[in-house]
Amino acid sequence: MKKVSYEEMVSARVRRDASYDGYFYVGVRTMKIFCLPSCKARLSLEKNMVFFSTREEAIVAGYRSCKRCKPDLFPNNVPNWLDKVLSYMKRNVSKRIDAKTLIRITGVEISTIRRHFKNHYQLTQMGFHRKLRLAYAKELLGKGMSSKELPSHCGFKSSSGFRTAFFKEFGHPPGETHLV
Ligand SMILES: [Zn+2]
Repeated sequence: MKKVSYEEMVSARVRRDASYDGYFYVGVRTMKIFCLPSCKARLSLEKNMVFFSTREEAIVAGYRSCKRCKPDLFPNNVPNWLDKVLSYMKRNVSKRIDAKTLIRITGVEISTIRRHFKNHYQLTQMGFHRKLRLAYAKELLGKGMSSKELPSHCGFKSSSGFRTAFFKEFGHPPGETHLV
């Protein structure tokens, strides 16, 4: 467990830094609830923040876990922003998504997003999105789209890049769907 100073805890809470989740918990004195540092709920004044190094301490002190960030379920909880990323990715399978867009729709640092995808899916967020785009390509192929048209419909710049990615994902080139 890394040792976190008071100033660092306040600053992590103010930045809603998810990399501190699990290292400490922050209670709101006036509401008697406690949160993960990354909680998206409105920040309380610093004088109303109280820090706990464990959940047990918070509960013993009479605090309830926040319904929004669910510190009681950490680390098995799903971050609030993940839904936004996944639904955005699914809606945009026909184009590439850049880091800026993900930051804009989630309000979290790209490093937080990257870490979550690495830890949970062993992929970068871009690699994850590429898988969705390839699945979409396969669906379009099944509907009869020619493999020449596919790359541009699935956010690939070149047909060779598309073919390579497709082959890697499915083990056969696009256009041989009858084999699967
Ligand atoms: Zn919370």
